[in-house]
Amino acid sequence: MKIAIIGAGWAGMAAAVRAVELGHDVTVFEAARTLGGRARGVPLTLPDGREVMVDNGQHILIGAYTECLRLMRTVGVDPESALLRLPLTLRHVDSSGLRLPDLPAPLDAALGILGARGWRWRERLALLREAGRWRRAGFSCDEQLSVATLCARLPPRLMAEFIEPLCVSALNTPVAEASARVFLRVLHDGVFAVSGGSNLLLPRIDLGALFPQAAARWVTARGATMRPGQRIDAMHWQAPHWHIGEQAFDRVILATSAPVAAQLLTRSAEHAAGTAADALLGWCQLAARLRHQAIATVYAQVDAPFRPLAAPMLALRPHRNEPAQFVFERDAITQSSQPTRLLAFVVSTSRGERVPLEAAVALQAQRQLGLAVTPRLSVIEKRATFACTPGLQRPARAIAPGLSACGDYIDGPYPATLEGAVRSGTAAAEALQ
Ligand SMILES: Cc1cc2nc3c(=O)[nH]c(=O)nc-3n(C[C@H](O)[C@H](O)[C@H](O)COP(=O)(O)OP(=O)(O)OC[C@H]3O[C@@H](n4cnc5c(N)ncnc54)[C@H](O)[C@@H]3O)c2cc1C
Repeated sequence: MKIAIIGAGWAGMAAAVRAVELGHDVTVFEAARTLGGRARGVPLTLPDGREVMVDNGQHILIGAYTECLRLMRTVGVDPESALLRLPLTLRHVDSSGLRLPDLPAPLDAALGILGARGWRWRERLALLREAGRWRRAGFSCDEQLSVATLCARLPPRLMAEFIEPLCVSALNTPVAEASARVFLRVLHDGVFAVSGGSNLLLPRIDLGALFPQAAARWVTARGATMRPGQRIDAMHWQAPHWHIGEQAFDRVILATSAPVAAQLLTRSAEHAAGTAADALLGWCQLAARLRHQAIATVYAQVDAPFRPLAAPMLALRPHRNEPAQFVFERDAITQSSQPTRLLAFVVSTSRGERVPLEAAVALQAQRQLGLAVTPRLSVIEKRATFACTPGLQRPARAIAPGLSACGDYIDGPYPATLEGAVRSGTAAAEALQ
């Protein structure tokens, strides 16, 4: 079949790879010149004139991202060299916190909790008791429960040093507003299900190179057409085809973000007849209702002399004027022969504008790491992820005859993640018939 995919983020490129594997004739339209959408490479020029690639936001993958890893291998990216694999570590600068040993799951989690530094025995046992309860309940709970309510029995230190950082990094939603059901699913798949599932995988190459660009080369070599720099503003249905500009397609997969998909379909519904228009508008209402949260990444250079961090990734202690939750040492991750002295400070659920944010992060680096830093580039993604709240109704993959959607926001068990996005893309391609 002749397939149009609108959007070349991770979901759209996963759909393209699978559709090509299934023998379809694929065209991918992408509004931007750069592929990857919310997970893409960004150039940064250092004061010495060198240009290095960073990302629109520091990302973490985990060992349980099986579909991401499978797709990378398919398109010729070797995950072993492209990703730095570390045991799950939620350590602070003073080395307090959790580090899972390299053992089979769930033994690694149990021993990691028992061996956590700086936690009292009472606190470690409270977490093990709670984990036992979650396990007995099959890592599921009432749809309406928030993470704060689910964890109400845990001591404050465990909330601050374990649940809150994990929740904000996985769901990008504060514990009081985050869905406990999705959180438990992430905990199960990420920490308690398979050995190595909880491993942190930190990209050593930029996010564009890690999958979307390699996928574009792979599909193009197999006859697909990539159309970067081509924004699609409307399409119309004239049975039995969807028309995009002058071209007719048997099927369309909409792989933009939710707000763009809602706008595009609202415009397309104006020209559609009766039931088709109703189907489009019903879907648009759900998509448009999703709330979004920002994530900011401040890339800052350590003023010489450089003292490496205790680990490539450290948890920070955020509060009102010190907003970052995590810091990453780029040189320790990329292991480049030409050090950049760049740190990436990640501010999930960010609210600030660039100038005060950079000042706050520089102050936080001084106070919490004892390092003087100069911000070089900040990327604030205002609509980084949908707010993953209790009882949230997410739009379905199927929209109307011949039209479906994929993306991190489509109904599924995961929050807005790379793994959710690519699983949804693969599923959309497999459902083509
Ligand atoms: C700063 C940040 C940090 C994050 N951290 C993590 C993390 O650590 N781990 C993790 O797993 N996930 C993380 N995420 C989430 C992850 O990046 C997203 O879930 C994922 O990239 C979404 O992919 P997608 O393909 O569904 O959507 P998108 O990436 O939004 O792709 C949509 C594509 O459609 C294109 N498009 C839009 N309109 C049109 C149009 N009219 N015509 C043609 N093309 C169009 C866009 O340009 C874009 O390329 C993070 C996100 C951000 C922003």
